[in-house]
Amino acid sequence: MPRSPLDLAAPGVRKINPYQPGKPIDELEREYGISNSIKLASNENPLGPGAKVLAAIAKAAPGTALYPDGNGFHLKETLADHHRVGVDRITLGNGSNDVLVLLAEAFLTPGHEAIYSEYAFAVYPLAVQAVGATAKVSAAQPGDSFSPLGHDLGEMESLIGDQTRLIFIANPNNPTGTWIKSRELRDFIGQAPDHALVVVDEAYFDYLEEQDYPDTSQWLDDFPNLVVTRTFSKAYGLAGLRIGYSLSHPDVANVLNRIRQPFNVNSLALEAARAAIDDKAHLELSVALNNEQRDIVATGLKELGLRFIPSVANFILVDMGGPAMPVYEDLLRQGVIVRPVGNYGLPEHLRISIGTAEENQRLLQALRQVR
Ligand SMILES: *Cc1c(COP(=O)(O)O)cnc(C)c1O
Repeated sequence: MPRSPLDLAAPGVRKINPYQPGKPIDELEREYGISNSIKLASNENPLGPGAKVLAAIAKAAPGTALYPDGNGFHLKETLADHHRVGVDRITLGNGSNDVLVLLAEAFLTPGHEAIYSEYAFAVYPLAVQAVGATAKVSAAQPGDSFSPLGHDLGEMESLIGDQTRLIFIANPNNPTGTWIKSRELRDFIGQAPDHALVVVDEAYFDYLEEQDYPDTSQWLDDFPNLVVTRTFSKAYGLAGLRIGYSLSHPDVANVLNRIRQPFNVNSLALEAARAAIDDKAHLELSVALNNEQRDIVATGLKELGLRFIPSVANFILVDMGGPAMPVYEDLLRQGVIVRPVGNYGLPEHLRISIGTAEENQRLLQALRQVR
């Protein structure tokens, strides 16, 4: 007899440390009896969705009695047009997280290996462990390099073997905010064997203005083993609706389509995402605000004498120079929620999302109090 139902769980699942989400505002205010808190913990768009998206959601709301279009016909048409790729390359997911998990379920078994970097997105280990596959974790770049704590593609390449089926690359990476240049990434994908899919996770794609930053969605014709993932959760401001997608070889999309839940994307998300793609002005506003405020936060951190990794995304990884949890808790008491990253192996860092001008000033003020 097993001692506990836990012993009945699949071996890979037993070893999983659950994902630690950013603390919801509601929970903080209930626990601390405070109000007017702000959340800079989950890299959400502080402006939220634009008016056109809200109108599309309102319009779609009465239709929620019916199941959604399981094929997401209209959204796929919009995305195919947007990326100039065939509809048969698109897989929709309940957030891009869903697609990352589908990839692990479809391409990994306990005999297979997946590669990702140290300090990469926390969902990769979860997805790999859940299916009982072996994770090969590559050492990150040193803290004083061009890409501090970012992916070292040479290290990743050295871990590729006969059993490798998936290689996860976040570009830019969360939680470091580091990124990989076009040439380097293209060379890496070019040398990867055809038995390994290279998954380039571009959750923060829209924030980047760097000239050498690649749009890998335009490389799909060159590399049949390339999978690109995107999300509406960050710059598009739709984290709560849960919608993302992958672009890949049609055969990869075909395989993912076999195992996804038949209605994995809800009807409000399908309509909201279409409207979000069409509302370029709101996206541009969101990106401009973020990139301007990111500089202001960086300057404020410098003035406080805090070290941080220069970021191209909508968050900054800050080195607290000692255990970060007491600082995190102190900020909570002041009604400011940021993200501890001890689960990433970074117990002395906090990841801080860029908010509105007002929110960022509150953050800097709260940090001054702590220091
Ligand atoms: C936020 C994030 C995602 C997106 O998650 P969703 O499931 O689409 O909300 C994917 N990858 C990285 C690296 C992220 O930071």
